[in-house]
Amino acid sequence: MWFLFFLDKPRFKIDGFAQEGAMNRQSRCAHCRRRFAPNPRVKSQRFCSNTPCQRARKAQWQRDKMATDPDYQANQRDARQTWQRQHPDYWRHYRRRRPDYRERNRLLQTHRDQTRRAKPLAKMDASGAVTFVNPGIYHLIPATGEALAKMDALPITCRLIPMP
Ligand SMILES: [Zn+2]
Repeated sequence: MWFLFFLDKPRFKIDGFAQEGAMNRQSRCAHCRRRFAPNPRVKSQRFCSNTPCQRARKAQWQRDKMATDPDYQANQRDARQTWQRQHPDYWRHYRRRRPDYRERNRLLQTHRDQTRRAKPLAKMDASGAVTFVNPGIYHLIPATGEALAKMDALPITCRLIPMP
């Protein structure tokens, strides 16, 4: 009898310690990188409760789902096609509302063409990674695709600043 008691006691202590540890544990949000106290009822919570982070969590979930679940993929495609049937003029009107959209697409296409044509300039060692930018007016285009349709290309002017 004392033997069982002896076995049980340390185990109880370990459980108590583990629970306490979980309550004090802080996670780092996968989106904003801030520390947050995870909800103990949510298993392996990776995002804090801020709205942008929850939006990012949902977007991540949808990307994963699209990549791994053929049924979800088909449902999304059907929903998109239904929506497009019901809103046939959306993109035409969008282009009319946004005269910069066509220009932007043209710039993106030019950029893609140039990237495809571009060959590595030369074998570069770690110390020799130099990028040459010609002075002129450039359009800043976001590198990732997610917000492409929503964002304007920002015209910026690049000037050469001579080194002293
Ligand atoms: Zn966050």
